[in-house]
Amino acid sequence: MSGRGRARGVLLGLALGDALGAPFEGRSRVTGVQLDAWIDAGEPLRWTDDTHMALTLARHLVDDPELDDPQALGGAFARAYALEPWRGYGAGPPQVFAMVAQGMSFEEAAGTLFGGAGSFGNGAAMRVAPVGLLPAAIDPRRAARLAEVQARVTHTHPEAIDGATVIAQVIAGLLDLDKVDADAIVRVVSAAASRLSEGPVRDRLTGVVDVLASGGEPAMVVGRCGTGVAAAESVPAAIAALLGGGDALRVVTTAIGFGGDTDTIAAMAGAMAGAAWGLERMPGPLLDRLEARAELERLADTLSCR
Ligand SMILES: [Mg+2]
Repeated sequence: MSGRGRARGVLLGLALGDALGAPFEGRSRVTGVQLDAWIDAGEPLRWTDDTHMALTLARHLVDDPELDDPQALGGAFARAYALEPWRGYGAGPPQVFAMVAQGMSFEEAAGTLFGGAGSFGNGAAMRVAPVGLLPAAIDPRRAARLAEVQARVTHTHPEAIDGATVIAQVIAGLLDLDKVDADAIVRVVSAAASRLSEGPVRDRLTGVVDVLASGGEPAMVVGRCGTGVAAAESVPAAIAALLGGGDALRVVTTAIGFGGDTDTIAAMAGAMAGAAWGLERMPGPLLDRLEARAELERLADTLSCR
């Protein structure tokens, strides 16, 4: 599998997981029969806020790969939202955009959410995948800094930042593997988890790795951790789907089967699985139905070759 194929796999895996998971958001569980019926229906695969924000971040990174101008990134998020507010955005980002329109900075506005704690949701992790594509992200400290800077535009809580950091570092680590197998994927995930500060995201990721390494089922892990919009629930769930094994479509369907925040868990899981397995293992007919496939591929090529 070429480097280009795996780089493209990141953004296409993200968009595929998002689009396939979207109809099931909020269900307590999704059966294989329900999922197969939706996949086989042949509908166009339209993605939601997860891919919309990731696409906006990817376009911004082309001109500002060090994220020197987070205000400009926030402005791009706000404009994208204003054009397509029907993409299933959570409550937080529009509140931030409204405060910024009144004169606050993005980070200042984001810091007022949840009584001043900042959002601990998965919005920063769901869109961070393009950071993992940058060659600079192979340095875990640089990946962490970029993940944090893009997070703080809307999500200032440490758990939201930890979630984004792990996803970016895992994608970069997987893209760097010469030989991909289950043990190598576990090593990449464990390394990313071990770099986090003490906290719920690190604890749960460590738990996920331990349970799966001792033969446990991914669904068992998420039964304990949860599948909600909190980064500390949905990021470990996405990692559990990745570690559950299989190609990108299998990882995405495992993630959707967990229920809960299905589009976001599957988007994060799909981006990581795409980094591991690339496009060759992704089903061509499904990708042909995916909204904006050509632009996602072009951005993946551009960012990974910087
Ligand atoms: Mg969504």
